[in-house]
Parts: sequence; structure tokens; C-alpha cells
Amino acid sequence: MAFTSNSTDVIVIGSGIGGLTAAALLQERGFATLVFEKNRYSGGSCSSFQRDGYCFDVGASVFYGFGKNGTSGTLNLHTRIFRKLGVEVRTIPDPVQIHYHMPHGFSVPACYDRHTFLAALAARFPHEAEGIKKFYRELDEVYDILSSMPAGSLEDVSHLLSVGGANPLKALALAMKSFRSMGKTARKYISDEELLHFIDIEAYSWAVQDAVATPLVNAGICLADRHFGGINYPVGGSGTIPAALCRGIEKFGGSIRYQSEVTGILVDNGVARGVRLADGTEHYAKVVISNATVWDTFNRLVADSRYRVDADRFLQAPSWFQLFLGVDAAVIPPGFDVHHVLVDDWKSYNQLGGTIYFSAPTILDPSLAPPGKHIVHVFVTDEVEQWAQYERGSSAYRNAKEATAAGIISRTERILPGLSTAVELKIIATPLTHERYLNRFQGSYGPLLKPGQNILQKPQNTTLIKNLFAAGDSTFPGQGVIAVTYSGVSCASYIARKLGKPLEELL
Ligand SMILES: Cc1cc2nc3c(=O)[nH]c(=O)nc-3n(C[C@H](O)[C@H](O)[C@H](O)COP(=O)(O)OP(=O)(O)OC[C@H]3O[C@@H](n4cnc5c(N)ncnc54)[C@H](O)[C@@H]3O)c2cc1C
Repeated sequence: MAFTSNSTDVIVIGSGIGGLTAAALLQERGFATLVFEKNRYSGGSCSSFQRDGYCFDVGASVFYGFGKNGTSGTLNLHTRIFRKLGVEVRTIPDPVQIHYHMPHGFSVPACYDRHTFLAALAARFPHEAEGIKKFYRELDEVYDILSSMPAGSLEDVSHLLSVGGANPLKALALAMKSFRSMGKTARKYISDEELLHFIDIEAYSWAVQDAVATPLVNAGICLADRHFGGINYPVGGSGTIPAALCRGIEKFGGSIRYQSEVTGILVDNGVARGVRLADGTEHYAKVVISNATVWDTFNRLVADSRYRVDADRFLQAPSWFQLFLGVDAAVIPPGFDVHHVLVDDWKSYNQLGGTIYFSAPTILDPSLAPPGKHIVHVFVTDEVEQWAQYERGSSAYRNAKEATAAGIISRTERILPGLSTAVELKIIATPLTHERYLNRFQGSYGPLLKPGQNILQKPQNTTLIKNLFAAGDSTFPGQGVIAVTYSGVSCASYIARKLGKPLEELL
């Protein structure tokens, strides 16, 4: 096929972190790359928005991957990618990943310092002190393996052979561990029900699934790396991460076209040729990468019904009800941690709205709010169905949002007394907002593995359509900014080799 003026090497649909990571690495390697983004800004669930002097994180605000430790191969990916691109994101270390507040006065901060964290757990459960050590040691072992292996595509035989050849025992151990669940591993060592609930919330806080449904390998990344690479907050808010990736893309000659919604993927005899935009223009490329969810890609953008993804193929994670609050700074006491998770009742922690997630990033970066103010971002799981009955902008919709918000603020007063009277700015987002702004099917957090499924059963970057690839949280390893960064690296690395110029290792 002859390439016309609107043809390029790589088209990326969406500027979420998965899509931008793939685009930046391919562009840096010399492949002409064009990103189409529906919104006026980049980053998707990892973007920022400004209102009345505040800069709010749209979604993510607990960040892995900025470790300085030169040995963490697949884990300090942001550090390595930004180094490769020659762009900078300054970060502030966050001493506590999450401070958990659970029923019966059980509260524990998951501190950067591993010893302090394990000692706090052992103090609450002295009869389980040995089991606690053994369980968390298993997670460290996963971390050790992953941190010694370079990131790459699991579909790329050359990559697998080189990693397996250099680290045969570790590769074998990792393969064995990929069959194990975090919760079942915990039960080998621990029997106290309350402690097992804690292990569940350790999984649920990022995986929105209990520990039994969460693969051990994912847990090893999140719950071990917090004590090694640590949690680091980007100065200026979450949007500085996609902004840096965009700078990298543009620096090497690629471009990002905003307000450019892709409405269709052009497929010809099972081969992706390009995309059609909402304005009717068509753009062609050697390969197309979709950063949209698996449902949006195959049930909306690809017209051919043979590629449809049926409803029962994955578990669909819920969406979110979010509150972005500007508050009087006096309501946050000195020494308060940035991120908190609140569980009122173990019976309902995994029901819609059952767990409250809380972040106040201005504790680390006061520049995100006007002087004397803090940002409080609180959110709970929710579903689009509950809100579909309301017309946007109607008073019924507004009243329902206000009532839900009041309930969440009142529950949050458990850790922040006086919060309701300290609120000076309140922005409410429902699953409908999520669906609209992030262009995600039903505003979902994404597809989840069914309990018992191996993490390797998560879709990889290739698809059934030749030259159509996927990056983002619908692909391996799953949700989370560092996870989708991995998916972007593996996608770029597969495509670069296919197009004849493999990526260099990320040092
Ligand atoms: C409330 C919330 C809190 C979270 N907290 C954390 C956290 O603390 N730490 C963490 O690591 N992770 C967190 N996450 C998860 C993390 O943010 C996501 O998993 C990750 O950012 C998803 O990245 P992605 O690459 O899949 O793309 P997305 O973020 O889904 O972005 C996709 C982009 O593609 C664009 N797009 C989609 N379709 C089209 C189209 N047809 N045409 C053009 N553009 C299109 C969208 O507009 C969007 O910009 C959170 C998520 C949410 C929602």
C-alpha cells in the first residue's frame, strides 16, 4: 500500500499513560508516531484539571516507578523512561503508601520503612508475627525477581529467550509464582480472620478485588516496591507525567493531536490500516495502537462483529463516584498522611461505595492549592446504572449527587473531624462523568481477571487483527499507572522488533 501524506508509521488512539509510553518509546527509536486524543489534554485517568486556583488529580495520585535504585529492572520504569527521553519529572517521596483505617479501631500506615510497617502489624497480631514475616517475604521474592529483569514483551520470543537465558532460575520461579494468588498464599501462613481482612484490603485498594482473586505477582509489585522504590508524588500533580511523555514525543518529532476523537479503526481483510476521526478524515499507518478499553476498541471502534468482546469474557470493574474538594487547610492536622483508605464494615468493604479512598496531595505539594487551602480527593466505587436515570444538568441529578457527596463527606469525618464545614469548593464526578471524559465503557476501571485465572491470561499487546495492538489497563499486567507504563513498554518493544529496529534496553 502506498503511504500518502496522512500516513505514518504508528497511530496511537488515546493519550493515556499506556498509549503515550508506547508512542514516546517508538518515536524515540525513530518511528514516526501520531497520537489522537479526544480531549484537550493528555493523560486520561492520570491527568490533572484546574479550577479556582486548585490543580486536582483526575484519578491516580499514588505513584510507583520513580525509584532511584539502579537495580530495579521492570519496576522503576518512570525513572528509566524519562532518562531515555531526556525529560524531567521532579518528585517528592511519600513516606506512607496508604494509611488504612479499619473496623474496631484497627489502623495501620503502610510506611516506606518496611520494618516499621511489619512491626505495627505484628504488634496488633502478635500470634501471627511469624506468618506476617513469611507472607511479606514471599512478596519481596517476587519483587527481587522482577527488579532484576528488563522490561519487554512476553509475546516476543527473542525477549523471553534472552531473559530466560540470563536468569533461568528466576524466570522459572516467576513462571511458577504466576499461578499463585495473593490470598491463598496469605492463608498458608496466616489464619487470623481480621488480619486476612487486612490482606484483602491491601489488594482491594488498588486491584478492586479481594486477595484471593489477586495474582501474587501483582501483589509483589505493589506491596513490595512501596518499601524499595517507594511512593513518590510528581511535583505539580499527576498531569506532569503525561505532559513529560508528550514533551518526549514532540522532542523526537512525533505529535499529539488533541480534540481528535477516533470513531473507527480501518480494517481491511483482517489487517488494521489506520483510523477514521470524528471529522471524517482518515489516517493511515503501518501499525495502530489502541489505548482505549478492550470494550471500546472491539465493540465500538472496530465495526466487524466477528471481533466483538462478549460481556462474560472479563469481569467488569466498577466505576467511581469522586469528590474533588478545596478545603480550609486548618482541617488537616500536622503529620496527617496523604493517602488513606477507610473501611467501616468488613461485610460491605467490597460492595459499591463500601470503601472510601482519600488523598490530600497538597500535604506534599502545597503549590497545588491557593495559600491556606488543601485539596481533598475522596472517591468510592460506583456504577453507571445508578445514574443513567438522570438527565445531565437536571436538578434531580444535582440533588442525587449532593446527597451522595454529603454521605461520603460525613463518613470521612471519622478521620478528619470538621471536614464538612471546611469545604470551600466541591466538584462532583459520577460514573457518567467518568464515561464521558475518559471515554471508557460505562466509566469502568477496566476488565479484571476472574478469580483463579493466571495473570498471564490477561490480554497481551497483540490482537486478533493484524497490525492492531493494545496498550493500557485492558492489557497485561492491568490497572495502575506503573502497570500501564509496563504495557506501553512491552507494546513498543514488540512493535519495534516487528518493524525491524528493536528498542534498546531501558537503563
Ligand atoms: C479514581 C481513580 C484513582 C486511581 N488511582 C490510582 C493511583 O493512585 N495509582 C495508580 O497507579 N493508578 C491509579 N488509578 C488507575 C490508573 O489511573 C489507570 O489504570 C491508568 O491511568 C489507565 O491508563 P491507560 O493507559 O489505560 O489510559 P486511560 O487513562 O484510560 O486514558 C485513555 C485515553 O485515551 C483517550 N481515548 C479513548 N478513546 C479514544 C478515542 N476513540 N479517540 C481519541 N482518544 C480516545 C481518552 O480520552 C484518554 O485520554 C486510578 C484510576 C482512577 C479512575
